Amino acid sequence: MERLIDFSRDRQMLCGGCGRRLVVHLDWIDRWEQGREKCPGCGLTCEQEDAPRVTVDPDDPALDDDRVATVSWYHTSTQPDWPTRDFDPAAVFTPETRMMMGGDEPVAACAARQRAKALHIGTYEAAVHNMLRRMRDQADWGNQFYLYRVHLNPSVVVREGWLIDPSDFVGDVVLDEVCPQGVDVARYLNYHEDPGGLSLALGREAIAGVQQVPVPLPDAWDADWVREAIAALETASDAPVPATGKLARFMRPASPRAVLGRELAAALAGRLPVNLHDQFASAAAFAEGEDPEQWARQASGLFDLIDDPTRVLAALDQQDSRGV
Ligand SMILES: [Zn+2]
Repeated sequence: MERLIDFSRDRQMLCGGCGRRLVVHLDWIDRWEQGREKCPGCGLTCEQEDAPRVTVDPDDPALDDDRVATVSWYHTSTQPDWPTRDFDPAAVFTPETRMMMGGDEPVAACAARQRAKALHIGTYEAAVHNMLRRMRDQADWGNQFYLYRVHLNPSVVVREGWLIDPSDFVGDVVLDEVCPQGVDVARYLNYHEDPGGLSLALGREAIAGVQQVPVPLPDAWDADWVREAIAALETASDAPVPATGKLARFMRPASPRAVLGRELAAALAGRLPVNLHDQFASAAAFAEGEDPEQWARQASGLFDLIDDPTRVLAALDQQDSRGV
């Protein structure tokens, strides 16, 4: 079952000070995070302890244990075969790294810790949020991403209730700690990606199969926007111009083409929900020397994933489910 995908839906917040529940727009949360809104019940602002935080929507179908395995879950990754069966994290270590780590034993222990980590899946919105965040990271720059639709085994045992985002405290989540013996899947409240949505921590055995498409899709973009963006970029010079003014010596020279490309990305970002503006603008930023056509298709395709997910969902529908 597909849940309603809506990046700009209202969020539920719960005040730790007075216990009041709020249903708020993303713009309200944005002002709140800047200290410009108060809890209407007790006046707490975001700087204070016990201040309101996003919480789960009581109507979220994933709160119902029996529906956890029937709804579609999502994940984005640069791995073309996620969740990799014989994942050997030590395989990527160079002989130098192995030596620096102290030899075979510490390397094996490190690999075991990596394998013990929980996998994470969440809403479509959370998967896209996660990808945009990773696209900003140097390590994933320019890599091909894949969107996975995940189907759980119908018999999975779901841990009761939900946890506070465990990665909030420790980054990686050890599977055994969130899914004790006899439990396959633990729900947690996601604070950072699709805030207020429920995500799942689980082992690969809980997954029945996945469908997969590359994102952005190779042929899903707004043809008019792409054509106009390419024409504008090609008329702008790609020769870097040294900055002028007082702070010029601190600034890298930028070409008029790169400046325009960044403006185009920022304008696209401005059409998205406020909590995606910065992430989108930097994920779709135009890099000096980039090919205008390739960039425009990529930027428009990324925008489409958020603005109109129907195309990517239809593409997923066409894919066979790969058993895990
Ligand atoms: Zn309050």
